[in-house]
Amino acid sequence: MIPFVREFAFEYGRVDRASPLIRRVVANNPGPFTFTGTGTYIVGRYARGAGVAVIDPGPLDDAHLRAVLAAVEGQTVSHVLVTHTHRDHAPLARPFAEAVGGAPVLAARPPLHTVHASGSLDEDDDDSFVPDVILKGGERINGDGWTIEALATPGHASNHMAFALLDENALFCGDHVMGWSTTVVAPPDGDMTDYMASLDAVIARDFATLWPTHGAPVTQPAPFLAAYRAHRLGREAQVLARLQAGDGTIAEMVPTLYAAVDGRLWPAASLSVWAHLIALVRSGRVIAEPEPTLQAIYRIV
Ligand SMILES: [Zn+2]
Repeated sequence: MIPFVREFAFEYGRVDRASPLIRRVVANNPGPFTFTGTGTYIVGRYARGAGVAVIDPGPLDDAHLRAVLAAVEGQTVSHVLVTHTHRDHAPLARPFAEAVGGAPVLAARPPLHTVHASGSLDEDDDDSFVPDVILKGGERINGDGWTIEALATPGHASNHMAFALLDENALFCGDHVMGWSTTVVAPPDGDMTDYMASLDAVIARDFATLWPTHGAPVTQPAPFLAAYRAHRLGREAQVLARLQAGDGTIAEMVPTLYAAVDGRLWPAASLSVWAHLIALVRSGRVIAEPEPTLQAIYRIV
């Protein structure tokens, strides 16, 4: 069982002092992917005149823009960082950067596959997003009394970047790890092989705190991440068991694997099963005919 943290004390637009170097403002965009909404983080000292970075300005929302601008009033925004290009994270980056006098926007390259599943879901991509500086991962960003390291964490999105605040051994993990839920890994842009490798990379760093974009922080990352990882491996084992039991298609597996879940969620569940099957085909444990698509026929090697 994953020790989810679903209690989260917040108010939309309020500035919360979350740690000596971290403040957070939550946008009023709750939903099935965003939980209570997007948490925009401000990194740096609270003092007037201090230089700060802002992580994931969030969705295009005037009230949220005003709230984050008010939070950094009298300070200098030296960097705007974006974890990935989904619409609940990236669109406000440019308007915010311009409103504070042209701070540079830093993020990874565009995603390999642009997602437009619904036209309105938060997991859709913001096509118009263009960073000023493209991060590859490993860069150190030196600010006024803080240092952030970019950590490439593909999986939820092919261009997902997490940001380590070295001064507090903390990680702004975007949507890579969420305290309230497992993360959506939906092909084609989501990739389970990458996701598991990124999870292992975060586990290896032994961070003291994880600050997801949505919801409360994870204050005991080691047991949480171990359970998070075990959950994925458990799901993979269940997929293999369905193949062993004679299922050949995703459509056959999902009703059994997700019997406890509302049928309206089965299309989304199918994407997750597909992500596991692609990873299993890639590692040589499963064969897909003719290739690993949503409709393909799968069997164990
Ligand atoms: Zn996302």
